[in-house]
Order: sequence, then structure tokens, then C-alpha cells
Amino acid sequence: MNNYFVILAAGKSKRFHKKIPKQFYNYKNKEIIDHSIEKSLNSKLFKKVIIVSNNLNYFKKKKCPKSVSIIKGGKERSDSSLKALKYLKKYNPKNVFIHDAARPDFSIKLLKNITKYLKKNKAVIPVIKSKDTIKYKSQNQIFNLNRNNSLLTQTPQAFRFKELYNFATKQKGKITDEATLFINNNFRVKFIAGENHNNKITYIDDIKTSKTYFGIGFDIHKLVKYKRLYLGGVKIPFHSGLEGHSDGDVILHAIIDALLGATRKKDIGTYFPNTKKFKNIRSPKMLKPIINSLNKSNFVINNLDINLICEKPKVSKFRNEIINSISKLINLNKEQINLKGKTVEKLGLIGKEKAIACEVITSITEYD
Ligand code: ZN
Repeated sequence: MNNYFVILAAGKSKRFHKKIPKQFYNYKNKEIIDHSIEKSLNSKLFKKVIIVSNNLNYFKKKKCPKSVSIIKGGKERSDSSLKALKYLKKYNPKNVFIHDAARPDFSIKLLKNITKYLKKNKAVIPVIKSKDTIKYKSQNQIFNLNRNNSLLTQTPQAFRFKELYNFATKQKGKITDEATLFINNNFRVKFIAGENHNNKITYIDDIKTSKTYFGIGFDIHKLVKYKRLYLGGVKIPFHSGLEGHSDGDVILHAIIDALLGATRKKDIGTYFPNTKKFKNIRSPKMLKPIINSLNKSNFVINNLDINLICEKPKVSKFRNEIINSISKLINLNKEQINLKGKTVEKLGLIGKEKAIACEVITSITEYD
């Protein structure tokens, strides 16, 4: 094993629009550059990892392992790459991998695969097919490239050190990857399958993330004679209805609280206090503004799981009707809603059919 791994991290991230340099931006719980450092070390394929950066002070504070060296980068990517090769010469490497720090998602499997191909090849380049159709502009003329013949090169790219060093030291003008050097010198390049998820992070949009939250809701209302029973917005034939300032729909109230919980917006009482204004309000009317505000922001409901706790009515008899109603009210697929019936073995107020309770849990994803 006489392989060295070079991480190029000297770019100015001109297209990234962030105050911190892109390579130090947090991505999947760690700095973008740490993904490359950790994977190259964990692969145990390399004698040394060399980081080329223009933020040397930052790395001093970072405390990298001994097998990681930090060197100062150049103005362009190709300058930084050349600096790394000149630095490495004293170690007399057999192979060198060149990688862009902006690609944190490559796998160790890819590193192993490249290493395997390096035995019989002097340049191994991972490529993927283009998903988009590419046009090529040359001297004010536009050409259509056949998508099936177009290859997109990724990093890490691996080379026999000697050849790469020779090509790189003679190169004049900037290049955007090392494969170019081999191709320009008519040297055989082995293209292997790259990884579709190994994308280059160029714009802040490339790493926009989503967060998922859970919300819990609970409600209970007393059953009283001469009131209509509403559950999940459905009128249910029953000997009693639920007492309350509103129609007492425990399912919809628990849903509202669960949604407010997941979006961190306090509770149902904050929006619907026991005032004259809301006297005898129907619960779908209470749900509507909550759903509207949810839709206006970037929240997406993933699912609702509902426990209706009562001795009677039997949930199975009204399950489909209630799920249909909730699905329409909150514009969520029926498949994402579950309703369970739970009795309490005739215990307490609920067991004696004096009250109905409901608990709801929901998961909501917030997109940036
Ligand atoms: Zn209620």
C-alpha cells in the first residue's frame, strides 16, 4: 500500500453564497470536509491524507490525526493539485488519489474499487451518465451531444504518481480535473462506474435539508344526552354527544394539538379560547386555519396515528368514514392515516360511557 489521498479544499466557494467556506459548512452532522477525511482514513488504503487549503489556521484548531497533513493551496484548483504533488514527491508514492472536498458522499466501496483497477491501469476515473441532455458550444455554434456517449467525471480520481506528476508539472493553463491531463496527453484512462449520489456541492441549495418533528395531542370530553356526536368531522348515531364549548369532536381536537405540537405552535386553547366567538363552533372550522397555515409554510404531514378511547360506539363500524373525512379535511392520503379503537375494560368514566377520549401522534417534515 503506497497510496496517498489528496483532498482539494482551497476553493473560494464563489457560487456558494455563505460566509463560512463551503468545506466547513455543516452537512449530515459534520463539516463537509470531514466526510472525505474520515472515509479516506477509515478505508485504511492510504499512507497519508493531504489536505490542500487556504485556511491553515482553521485546521490548526481542528486537530487532525497525525496521518493527515495540511498544506497551503494555490489560486486555481490545478495550482493546488500541483502543490500537493510537489509536496508528496519526497514520499515517493506509487499512486495518488485526487479528490474534491465538495464531494462528501462517495463511498469507501468506491475507493476500494478504484484501488482494484489501479493494479492494471495508470489512471482510474469514476464516471456517471448524464441525466440531462448536454449541448456543446464551440465558436458560436451549438452542438448536440449524444447523452448516451456523454460521461460526467467525478472524484476521487486515481493515478500512478509518476505519470501524473510529469503531466501536471508540464501543464500550462488551468484544468478542472486531473483526468484531463491524461486525456490531453493521449494516455489511456480507465473509466469505471461512479456513484450517482456522489454529487458535487456547489450551491447552498445542493445541501438544503429537511427536519422531521413529532407532535402529540390528547383530548377528552364528557358525553351528554341531547347532543349530536361528532367524531373526526363525521356525525355518528349515538345516544349522547360530546359536551364542550365547540361540538366536542375529540378526534379533530387531538389532531389539532398534535399538528400544533409538531410545528411548535402552542395549543388549541391559544387559537380557540372559550369565548363567545367560538361558542358551538364546528371542529372542521377550527382545523381549517391550522391546515392553511401549515400549507403556507414548508411543512408536510407524513402520517397521523389516532387512538380513540371509548367503550362505544364501535370504531370498526365508522373507521372508513372517519378516515375519509379526516383525509379530506387535512388533504392527506387515506393511507397515511390510521385509526385504532381502544376500550378501557368498562373502567372509570370512559368505561361507563360518560366520556370519550382521543390521542393522536403525527410526524411532520419541515423543508428548508
Ligand atoms: Zn376538545
